[in-house]
Amino acid sequence: MLAGVLGWPIHHSKSPVLHGHWLRRYGIDGAYLPMAVRPNSLRTAVDGLRALGFRGCNVTIPHKEAVAALADLRTPTVERLGSANTLVFREDGSLWADSTDGYGFIENLKQGADLSRLRGGTVVMLGAGGAARPVIGALLEQGVSTIRLSNRSPEKAEAIADLVGSAVQPVPWAEREAAVADCALLVNTTSLGMVGQPALEMRLDDLPPDALVTDLVYAPLETTLLGAARTRGNPVVDGLGMLLHQARPGFHAWFGTDPDVDDDLRSAVLSS
Ligand code: NAP
Repeated sequence: MLAGVLGWPIHHSKSPVLHGHWLRRYGIDGAYLPMAVRPNSLRTAVDGLRALGFRGCNVTIPHKEAVAALADLRTPTVERLGSANTLVFREDGSLWADSTDGYGFIENLKQGADLSRLRGGTVVMLGAGGAARPVIGALLEQGVSTIRLSNRSPEKAEAIADLVGSAVQPVPWAEREAAVADCALLVNTTSLGMVGQPALEMRLDDLPPDALVTDLVYAPLETTLLGAARTRGNPVVDGLGMLLHQARPGFHAWFGTDPDVDDDLRSAVLSS
């Protein structure tokens, strides 16, 4: 049983380590391979994997949008976002596409916190790049009523608000700190705070003491944002679990086992 991940470049991907861990743990006779595929070779590569008998694959940057258009069948999430990260070759030869980042985000939060507080609540989200859209979709599915979306380039936040509707309210980047005053959840989806990137400047003085704080950045695991929130007593959830949980639907579809996300897996991925 074969699966893998297509991207350009691909050497940074943690997916081979985490799927490899699960394959060994569940004693499955299969393999999961990293595959460097140039943007103009995507269709040829996908056809080649089908011909080679692969069960399916993950796709990462820069192929997520192009692959959604290639698929024969798309989940409602893929239809809505126009992007996919998980492909399955079905027995009739058709290509099925899903987008599991939003699922991974919510499952990670659920493992670390009680999400009932989100229903009808307000979320402040920093960043309106590729990772923000699936997170917004998943939060609205959880019953969040308002998402205040703050992005350095305001037009990107406005484009998402135009697409999603009045539940998403763009907030100027300079006003992000005041926007958290009554929020139930603060999420960083920018790349700020990641190793090699500038720091995220975010004072938390106005954040309610019980507001949950999470960061999609997982390198470092404890970002400055999470450290500052933890210090003032707010509950925090780090971003690594999102990466691990988004991989579960694909593994289940290709290898027939719904895998666990636990400390062994976290250690395997962190030490890779
Ligand atoms: P992206 O599409 O490149 O978006 C980057 C975001 O960061 C944009 O909102 C961008 O604002 C903002 N940004 C970058 N530099 C900035 C600066 N100097 N000041 C203010 N804002 C800045 O990236 P992405 O795919 O959304 O990923 C974002 C982060 O999430 C990355 O660190 C990625 O590793 C992480 N991520 C984690 C997971 C997980 O499973 N935990 C999944 C996906 C992504 P502009 O629009 O103004 O440029």
